[in-house]
Amino acid sequence: MSYKIDTIVLEARECREYDRIYTLLSREKGKISAIGVGTRKPKAKLASGLEPLTKNELFLIECRGLDRIKGVIIHDQYPKIRENYDKTILVRRTTRILSWLLLEGERCEDIFLALADFLTLVEKTSFENKDVGRSKVVLFQLALFWRGVAWLGITPSLYYCVSCRKKISKNDKFIFSVPNGLRCEKCFANKDKNSMYISTDSVKILRFFLEGEVEILKKIKFDRKVLAELSNITRYTLSHIIERRIIF
Ligand SMILES: [Zn+2]
Repeated sequence: MSYKIDTIVLEARECREYDRIYTLLSREKGKISAIGVGTRKPKAKLASGLEPLTKNELFLIECRGLDRIKGVIIHDQYPKIRENYDKTILVRRTTRILSWLLLEGERCEDIFLALADFLTLVEKTSFENKDVGRSKVVLFQLALFWRGVAWLGITPSLYYCVSCRKKISKNDKFIFSVPNGLRCEKCFANKDKNSMYISTDSVKILRFFLEGEVEILKKIKFDRKVLAELSNITRYTLSHIIERRIIF
């Protein structure tokens, strides 16, 4: 049986003498692995359409073990990401973390679409002006990770204190405790090494991340301090879930 899917190539690794195994994020089937037979040969027709960071349409044949890639139509290869070292590193780290986070063979169409949007954003954004362009990219990178976290069913409490269940109000001081969520001032005594202070602005943005409020995130104003705080909380949370040190 053969079938057709839209994918973004996350990773490729060598297999046997002439083949590669690809990790793909597909619109239809979530994260999957497939084999490209002969893609390491010098004149392999499929190889260029299967390079990591390619958005494509793939034709596959069901096989025992890994399905086999038979054809590819390239949709986008993001040339401006490929020619810029910083962009390439940022995107490769992003796709690697997503790949660790997502479970094989479970549908996640909204994450596929969010990753496609993210790649388009990085492609279009100039990295010359670090403050404006790059901060926006980082914000959407974090948003993408939190989509993955929410997809796993992990939703930290952002409206009530995880210890005493009191509703969080705007002027309270609180800490974020990984991975459970916010803890109010009265429960600070329980602060451990996986807790950090968090500002009201960061909490607000974290809620938008978890609720997938993309349109609001496009317009939102934030400063560097908030972004640093959110990056820190995201890094701690991902490290906790994936159980390894995360760099992005
Ligand atoms: Zn409390």
